Amino acid sequence: MLQAILDMLYPVRCPVCGDIVIPKDSKICSPCEKKLQLITQPRCKKCSKPIDQDQSEYCSDCKSKEYHFKYGYSLWVYDSIMKKSISNFKYHYRKEYAKYYIEKVILNYGDVINRMAPDVLVPVPIHKSKYRERGYNQAEILANGIAKGLNIPVIPHLLIRDKKTLPQKQLSDKERLKNLQEAFVLNDKAFSEFPEKLNSILLVDDIYTTGSTIEACTNVLVRSGIENIYFITLCIGKGF
Ligand SMILES: [Zn+2]
Ligand SMILES: [Zn+2]
Repeated sequence: MLQAILDMLYPVRCPVCGDIVIPKDSKICSPCEKKLQLITQPRCKKCSKPIDQDQSEYCSDCKSKEYHFKYGYSLWVYDSIMKKSISNFKYHYRKEYAKYYIEKVILNYGDVINRMAPDVLVPVPIHKSKYRERGYNQAEILANGIAKGLNIPVIPHLLIRDKKTLPQKQLSDKERLKNLQEAFVLNDKAFSEFPEKLNSILLVDDIYTTGSTIEACTNVLVRSGIENIYFITLCIGKGF
């Protein structure tokens, strides 16, 4: 009875078109789901970005830069459809979209994550002023859901975003990384309170674009003696 009332008050909305989803137990309309581009092979062995042919192991980005994370995966291509969906999730209070995203991550990458066997999941943090403005960190919602589904601990605030960064678009790759590098710090309290020594971490974020955010977080963690850093994101840009 209560569930029926809740369903009426808060019907599930489709993360693509925003309409109420029918049938009731689904999290997305089936025609809308077909529009999403799941990433498949051939893909970069390091960042999972789609690549053109099977001959190459890595995308041009991973060939030319030295990233310090082990490897990572993204679920969907960051096309105009996912761009809109994630923007609503992040900036327009569509927190409920996370349910669909998390379900798909676990369905498609649960086994992969279990094989990585991370000690903990850690969301990429946002600056506290942004947190206050939005009321939530989208990456934290994702990390909590994935962690719960796979029964892996999560440390929501192991990383802190200390400094507001300059708008990344105006910067070169090198400046971008430097700009970001200074933005993240380790939360010593959360680090020392975790009962075991941390050897491997799975970073969780919504979008992977140039990899500089994941790399900046990785560097902070590696400097603290954590050797194996992996990542999972919902989307990755195709042609960067
Ligand atoms: Zn829809
Ligand atoms: Zn790559």
